Amino acid sequence: MTVWLLGDHLHPSHHVLDGADRVLMVEATDFADRRPYHPQKLGVVFAGMRHARDRLREAGYTVDYRRADSFGDALDAHFDAHPGDDLTLMRPPSHGAAARLRELVTSRGGTLTLVDDDRFRCSPEAFDEWADGDEFRHEDFYRWMRRREGVLLDGDDPVGGRWNYDEENRETPPKDWSPPPTPRYDPDDLTRETLEWVDSEFDTWGEREGFAWPVTRADALDALDHFVSHRLPAFGPYQDAMLGGEWALAHSLLASSLNLGLLRPGEVVDAAVEAWERDEAPIESVEGFVRQVLGWREFMRHVYRRTMPELAEGDLLDRERALPPLYYEGETEMRCLDEAVSHVYERGYAHHIERLMVLSNFATLYGVDPHELNEWFHFGFVDAYHWVTAPNVLGMGTFATDAFTSKPYVSSGNYVDRMSDHCADCPYDVDATTGEGACPFNALYWDFLKEHEETLRGTGRMGLMYSHVDRKSESEWDAIRERAARLRERAMAGEL
Ligand code: FAD
Repeated sequence: MTVWLLGDHLHPSHHVLDGADRVLMVEATDFADRRPYHPQKLGVVFAGMRHARDRLREAGYTVDYRRADSFGDALDAHFDAHPGDDLTLMRPPSHGAAARLRELVTSRGGTLTLVDDDRFRCSPEAFDEWADGDEFRHEDFYRWMRRREGVLLDGDDPVGGRWNYDEENRETPPKDWSPPPTPRYDPDDLTRETLEWVDSEFDTWGEREGFAWPVTRADALDALDHFVSHRLPAFGPYQDAMLGGEWALAHSLLASSLNLGLLRPGEVVDAAVEAWERDEAPIESVEGFVRQVLGWREFMRHVYRRTMPELAEGDLLDRERALPPLYYEGETEMRCLDEAVSHVYERGYAHHIERLMVLSNFATLYGVDPHELNEWFHFGFVDAYHWVTAPNVLGMGTFATDAFTSKPYVSSGNYVDRMSDHCADCPYDVDATTGEGACPFNALYWDFLKEHEETLRGTGRMGLMYSHVDRKSESEWDAIRERAARLRERAMAGEL
């Protein structure tokens, strides 16, 4: 049996490897030519594959590592060498991928057997059995997963009597708090060589220097251990906080390793729960982390599977504006946006609240075509894959679809001010809505609510927001519209 491992199947003992005679890995370059990917994203995938190849060979597997322009070319070579071969593959989560790969294999005389993907705890069959109709609520799914997996339970109930400590996850750190250390995995010779090749081969967007992501199972395990020992205790309270000059705060930085298969969600959850059992991390941190991994990550994968291709088509709010140049060039006086874009440019990473309440929030209020924003997230982040970026950007981030959220996550500058120290050092005035120097988030926020009133007023939990809309006078609206139009012009001219 030949096992085909894709570029995000990098665990040295994926269950699919049991009983394998041969392993096929294809390093195809055509996908990397399609977008200006972050060099660190291409770095984690290609260096990760090359390290995985070497580890598998050391473990005694015969690995056919084929470098080619495309999967088709690599499979031509594979089936010339092994006519009629049966390939076994973990079912890829991206929409249509399994059908495309099967076609590539069968048209060359081979067969393709698909098996479960062990990068997730919940199989498609289990989710479909749980889901009743097409209404998906994360909180219900999460509680079901906790019970199913027996995580943080006291009998059938949650430990501590509560399922969710979300309320305790919204603190801002005191002034004398310094974020715990982040680990660095400096490139070894093979990773360095791979990064240089990426640089010479592809048009990329972002910094190559400073690459420090795990690309091996050993480094990913170390990263998990480092997170649990150093950052997990503060993860819960400061999960939604932002601080100037701090890119990681107490976040785990594990998404790229989880999505590459270097770490399994089960072991990541167990490590956090064990820290709580040893009294080394508080329940609000451990529950918050478990909710992200066992709840949101699994939920997004299945919502994507169940709602594609509609999820990635159209836009509830019909927005068509282009993404302003500051997302590509990072040039802006707005401190929150400047920080968040530069974090992405420098490392291919921004933490959840920067992704949601700065990068997506601004693009949403500005009226960016959500599909262009989704592309930007897809090429710019080390952990981005269509299955996870599409629901996060098009659902949670921009409300292009209401497949699983009942309202857009939007806010004025007030939210950023409450959750960060950015506004104090920003030349824009967060307390002003109109007039030169007013925080751009404010006028854009009111303008957005007004522009999409017909669709949003009756939606979900928007009542409170529209009660504020109703209190504004015509002259206030004139000033807001004028300010919003001017801000859009300035953003397009790269002058925000
Ligand atoms: P932590 O904050 O430490 O969280 C722990 C883990 O929980 C993450 O590693 C991740 O595996 C999981 N997780 C948490 N939230 C989500 C979520 N909403 N969806 C899926 N997994 C989640 N996550 C990606 O893995 N890839 C993406 O391309 C991606 N794009 C996003 C785009 C937008 C607009 C938004 C709002 C969120 C996106 N997320 C994405 C989800 C989340 O922001 C990232 O998983 C997280 O910021 C990664 O950093 P971390 O590993 O330090 O996570």
